[in-house]
Amino acid sequence: MAIDRVISGNKRNEAEESFALSMRPQSISELIGQENVREKLSIAITAAKQRGEPLEHILFYGPPGLGKTTLAHIVANEMGTNLRCSSGPALVKQGDVMGLLTNIGEGDVLFIDEVHRLSTAVEEFIYPAMEDFKVDFTVDSGMHAKTINFPLKRFTLVGATTRAGLLSAPLRSRFGMLYHLEYYNEKQLTQILQRSAGLLDLKCDDGTLELIAARSRGTPRIANRLLKRVRDYAQVKGSGGLSGEIVDNALKMERIDILGLDELDRSFLRSLAEVYDGGPAGIEALAATLGEEKDTLEDVVEPYLLQIGFVRRTKRGREITQAGSKHLGLKVKTLKDRTDRSLFDK
Ligand code: ADP
Repeated sequence: MAIDRVISGNKRNEAEESFALSMRPQSISELIGQENVREKLSIAITAAKQRGEPLEHILFYGPPGLGKTTLAHIVANEMGTNLRCSSGPALVKQGDVMGLLTNIGEGDVLFIDEVHRLSTAVEEFIYPAMEDFKVDFTVDSGMHAKTINFPLKRFTLVGATTRAGLLSAPLRSRFGMLYHLEYYNEKQLTQILQRSAGLLDLKCDDGTLELIAARSRGTPRIANRLLKRVRDYAQVKGSGGLSGEIVDNALKMERIDILGLDELDRSFLRSLAEVYDGGPAGIEALAATLGEEKDTLEDVVEPYLLQIGFVRRTKRGREITQAGSKHLGLKVKTLKDRTDRSLFDK
């Protein structure tokens, strides 16, 4: 059973999405962090606008919740054009893409989330669209099959993926700009929370937002989500304002620890430590042990545990580090313990 996590980086329901929408920065100047991307993107946008041309195709990649969709909105806003959104799994047949592409206006932005999940047929269909702004659409089949050449308006495709490595080389090479989004530091997350708390009209004691930022796993979506949980708690159990005690109690109730790890993160570490004796263990084996989707572990759980040095990836699989074992309060196994145990196993 997949656990519905308060700190999952994944998008959830519609209410969540409309909340995200209202929290989204609308322009590059409102965007916090990602300096590297911001500067390059800002130059590319200004240059394209000066030349009166659409922007080149862009690929944003990085873990969920770091701002890929937000950046697509910002690109369209800054270019003064419309944004159309779709996603890899939603575009199955050529016809699905055809509808999108033929309705696109000059300079518009087409955002495709999870672009690594496009089918091969759709991917091949969009190559000429990306390169020459035309598509070859096949109507009928067999003897009557005809290929019709459709010219398109010049548009910008913005792709987002959590796994740039799964993108085929021909698709990847058709993006003119590739930007990797990084985890945010606590200072940047605090700024994001200050902005969100302002939009939500929340009263906060000094230092409370820093406490939430420290438990947000470097991810704005998680920061905003935790802020919402704490706001609910403050409204029901307190007087509405945020204090250190309210934050601590609310997050304790969500079983989020001081590093922002939740039950699933801890189960991941505990399985590695106890079921697999510290590792190495393959991701499929871990997914089976935890009853979780392999993709969730790879996209959401593992990247942060790797980032904070609690897990390492080796050729033979995942291993827990000393820091990871320590965080769980487990005794760090020495090589000798392990050798003794394997002798015992025999
Ligand atoms: P992704 O597409 O990478 O999964 P989103 O763009 O949907 O992530 O961002 C998730 C949430 O985080 C949104 O609510 C957005 O408002 C917020 N967010 C992301 N990046 C930033 C940022 N740089 N500054 C402020 N808020 C951000």
